[in-house]
Amino acid sequence: MMATSYTPAVIGGGSMSDINGLDHMGRPSDAVFGEEIGESCGVFGVFGPDLDVARLTYFGLFALQHRGQESAGIAVSDGAGVTVYKDLGLVAQVFDEQRLAGLDGHLAIGHNRYSTTGSGSWENAQPSYRAIGDRTIALSHNGNLSNTSALAEQLGVLQETLSDSELMTEAIGRELDGTDWERALARVLPTFEGAFSLTIMDNDHLIGVRDPLGFRPLVLGRVDGGMVLSSETCGLDIIGADFIREIAPGEVIIIDEDGVRSIHPFTNVKQRTCVFEFVYFSRPDSTMSGQSIHAARRRMGERLAVEHPADVDVVVPVPESGIPAAQGFAAAARVPYVDGLVKNRYIGRTFISPTQQMRDQGVRMKLNPITQELEGKRVVLVDDSIVRGSTTRQLISMVKKAGANEVHLRISSPPYQWPCFYGMDTGRREELIASRMTVDEIADFLEVDSLGYLSLDGLLAATAIDPNRFCTACLSGDYPTAISVSR
Ligand code: SF4
Repeated sequence: MMATSYTPAVIGGGSMSDINGLDHMGRPSDAVFGEEIGESCGVFGVFGPDLDVARLTYFGLFALQHRGQESAGIAVSDGAGVTVYKDLGLVAQVFDEQRLAGLDGHLAIGHNRYSTTGSGSWENAQPSYRAIGDRTIALSHNGNLSNTSALAEQLGVLQETLSDSELMTEAIGRELDGTDWERALARVLPTFEGAFSLTIMDNDHLIGVRDPLGFRPLVLGRVDGGMVLSSETCGLDIIGADFIREIAPGEVIIIDEDGVRSIHPFTNVKQRTCVFEFVYFSRPDSTMSGQSIHAARRRMGERLAVEHPADVDVVVPVPESGIPAAQGFAAAARVPYVDGLVKNRYIGRTFISPTQQMRDQGVRMKLNPITQELEGKRVVLVDDSIVRGSTTRQLISMVKKAGANEVHLRISSPPYQWPCFYGMDTGRREELIASRMTVDEIADFLEVDSLGYLSLDGLLAATAIDPNRFCTACLSGDYPTAISVSR
């Protein structure tokens, strides 16, 4: 049983839990197997005097669980005060009926965390919060600031003592003291650099913020007379909310009893949304800029089949994120699509740490082959990305051991060569296999019969969105902001 002892649900309530990692779509992650791209985070918010805002936020976070599994938290205001409850673990582990019943109010924000900066400790769980005079502010952050040193210096605090999200909370709190939200945000937000989609609240206001490059998504919806903010549209769908629109890059939405208003405090706005939201991070049933994520991933597979055809018997996805691209590949190549690998969907934060021997064969923890579908076949395996390569190598070995005659690997994105500084945890540049090896060398290392990556042009075309609106830094080295840390 997980070693957890809960403290009362008050501001700062929560506990330490002894946990292990799992990556996006529920796969055990770096902490267990040392591979995979880390998630960014999920943010959510609801304003509605007649709504059970904590319960709606719980379900919103449940839908956004894929964006972060390390900790979950909800802050609720009843007008008189703000209550924050957060803890390490999945949403369904952190909250139960009893705990939600103690979170009563008319507005709430929530957060799912995947640590990209700072440790995975309870202190870094969100929402973060500060008391400002007779009110309390709470903040949930998806992204990563790239100017934390300058911000810490400006605030006169030690950078190591606060996460980037706490630095923002501190900076906003100081500006807000004695003034209103519009003025405070107009002054403080332009001092933040990097990626930040935020939901913020105090006793009476719910606020949504998207950085001027719009790295991370944030959408606005309506439910039963209330207003909702969510990282993705799937967070609206789960509570039956209607999608209104995306928050624009550089836009701030303020929601209170007077209604909804929008301000634009940034002077230099140019959209650079993370292209990996389309490749990997967002849920396939979400939409972004009017495009279905699932349909875009299918198109990536179709293009991959044209760019890198393979003479094979079956197309097999690496579940789950490789499924739509494999479907597209199979349709375009007119080759049967088969489920040759099964993923264990039920590994949660309570996942017991495997023995060293099991860790060495790590991929079996999350994927197991269906021998009958692979035996004697020439297989094209479709996945969304290769980061460090060690897990992929194990996977290829497993498919071969299951009897595949040939294994051809197709990746529905270009080689991942540069680290991300905008909220994705991919390690340092030297850890990225594509920064050290050519495609042929990677194929040799993985021991595949052939390897093909989707081109950057092919990826961007598959999104069906203006290519100039994307960040592609990890694929191209073209960073949209100045980076002050070592690459
Ligand atoms: S560097 Fe890559 S992962 Fe990071 S925001 Fe840009 S496209 Fe996304």
